[in-house]
Amino acid sequence: MEKIPIKDDSEKQLFDALKEACDGIEFSSFEVGVSSESLETKYKIRQKSIDFVKSTFKSKHDSENFESYILVHFDRGFIEVTPTNVLVEGFYNKFSRDIAQTFHYCFKCRGRGCKKCNKTGKLSEESVQELIEKITLPLFESKESKFHGCGREDKDVLMLGKGRLFVIELVEPKKRSIDLKNLEEEINSKNKNKISVRGLKFVEKQRVVEIKNTPFEKIYSAKCLCSEISQKELETLINKKIKIFQRTPVRVEKRRADKKREKTAKILKAKLINEKEFSLEILSSHGLYIKEFISGDEKRTEPSISSMLGKECVCKELDVLEIVI
Ligand SMILES: [Zn+2]
Repeated sequence: MEKIPIKDDSEKQLFDALKEACDGIEFSSFEVGVSSESLETKYKIRQKSIDFVKSTFKSKHDSENFESYILVHFDRGFIEVTPTNVLVEGFYNKFSRDIAQTFHYCFKCRGRGCKKCNKTGKLSEESVQELIEKITLPLFESKESKFHGCGREDKDVLMLGKGRLFVIELVEPKKRSIDLKNLEEEINSKNKNKISVRGLKFVEKQRVVEIKNTPFEKIYSAKCLCSEISQKELETLINKKIKIFQRTPVRVEKRRADKKREKTAKILKAKLINEKEFSLEILSSHGLYIKEFISGDEKRTEPSISSMLGKECVCKELDVLEIVI
């Protein structure tokens, strides 16, 4: 936030600077901190500032739960106001295979801007985060957001059904009493065929940890390719609860430690599309890599659809039908 200078040691200058620093920022509660070498000055300035802000901005002083933190750098001669972050929770659906979940910096320049990213510093792909941000940031007058998803899906995977739980955290917003129903409608009307959100509500910071640590099952719909297959062979997969050992997939190995995990899955439906294509509906336990469960991932996932059918299969298209929390 902007640093507002305190021009001299007079009370008037302090109040003028406080007014200028707080103007345009919405807060119903606040805390004041003062930095000064002298304890006496610290105490006096803090008390004066609290009284002034209370009466001028009709706001409550609350040192535990505050919406703005006002720092008076008395010795250095300026005031800085930091609004606390606002968190909005909701569910999102994704209807496009070209939209990632979150914003990513360009891999080559890591955000500085280069030829590859056309000097933007970011990957050219759209993301759920950015589509929500585009409408949300201007309303809250926030410069950036953090996006916390309850898990994630790959860019080319649709997120259907009731949607995926997420929290968008608005960093240092100047406005906070936003009508979330209107926000929801605006996001949805501007993003037809891309994404939609529902059930937006304000939440506390601890929700982020909660949704990150909530295990959930998922129902997937997978379109698979194979050399040749019959409905009869597919029937053998249905309704068995399958215990799976899965090592970290080759495609994510570079980013994450190679671990062997035990997962489960149940094939709910298996349907032949033509002799080389079939679709599966799969109920999977938390964190099963489904594309690898289908292919076998060079035997790093055992068993797999490939190993159970005794023929090589690959996932061509994947959708999340439902997240079961
Ligand atoms: Zn770049």
